[in-house]
Amino acid sequence: MSTTVTAAVAPGTGQPLTIQQLQLDDLRPDEVRVHMVATGICHTDAIVRDGIYPTPLPAVLGHEGAGIVEAVGSAIITVAPGDHVVLSAAYCGHCKNCRAGLVAYCENLMAEDFGGRRRDGSTSLSSETGPISSHFFGQSAFATRANVVETSIIKVDPTVPLAALAPLGCGLQTGAGAVFNELRPEAGTSLVVFGVGAVGSAAIMAARVAGCTTVIGVDLHDSRLHLAEQIGATHTINPATTDVVAEIAKITRGEGVNYALDTTAVPTVLRQAAAALSIRGTLALVGAAKPGTDVSFEIGSSLVKGWTFKTIIQGSAVPQVFIPRLVKLWQQGRFPFDKLIQTYALDDINTAFADSESGKIIKPVIVF
Ligand SMILES: [Zn+2]
Ligand SMILES: [Zn+2]
Repeated sequence: MSTTVTAAVAPGTGQPLTIQQLQLDDLRPDEVRVHMVATGICHTDAIVRDGIYPTPLPAVLGHEGAGIVEAVGSAIITVAPGDHVVLSAAYCGHCKNCRAGLVAYCENLMAEDFGGRRRDGSTSLSSETGPISSHFFGQSAFATRANVVETSIIKVDPTVPLAALAPLGCGLQTGAGAVFNELRPEAGTSLVVFGVGAVGSAAIMAARVAGCTTVIGVDLHDSRLHLAEQIGATHTINPATTDVVAEIAKITRGEGVNYALDTTAVPTVLRQAAAALSIRGTLALVGAAKPGTDVSFEIGSSLVKGWTFKTIIQGSAVPQVFIPRLVKLWQQGRFPFDKLIQTYALDDINTAFADSESGKIIKPVIVF
């Protein structure tokens, strides 16, 4: 017996989302029925809507869900009805990397998160015209209810407002995890973030928590730089008016910056980030680019700098461990990500996407 849900459907490549009534099928033994309270909008939703990643359309996207468990499949032991949960990326749980605790690097990541199907090939969602891709990041959270895979589920403190927590599942985890789990800056060091959207803002807050004493935000939008200062940036640079590499050299007294995080995935920005590094500096990329995008770095005089370049997915986090830690930091006022959020109704989801793309709003969140 299926259930009717209201969902935002991505109908075809590059087309705006449409609000539709869909059928949600029966819960499988390894799934959790979540009554959605709020879902954040992330850049990855937009690039899948636009056909850059391979999820078959039509699809219900949404991968930063937060809600309340309504029912559990017979094999579920980690949550029970009534639990408050945040949803994050799915992983298979049985490949080499999952077994090693590197769930963000699951060997089956593309099928689990972008395949649009269960492992048996079925979808949980359908309309009169046929199946609709579901299980996007294990959840497809732009819907009033979803059948969610267990690896996407993170139980959270029920006293914390769920609408505020939605963006933790992807964007904020990505930025904060890159700093806490991969860059691991020592207290008293310097860190620059290129692009201070949701991911970059999370990295700035994390850098302050980690004890960085110089935290630089770089962005083309002055409004975002202003917010970056409010959440912990010690310096901001707008590359439209300032030479970024020269300015970073000035701020760091010629030493260069110890850690650089790029959220833009723009090749020219990555080159600037590399040029701004100190000796033994580290540059990390967390932004998604079109497959096939190339970047080139100077390797002559920069060899002696002994620098590191790495790519990071989902902040290299185990969401079930990491997200509750971010909630605790937020409760102590040390990770004030609520300053980034603007809420929208589901009917206004295309406006929310547009406001995010124009840079007007850092983190739109749909509240059901
Ligand atoms: Zn895996
Ligand atoms: Zn995302």
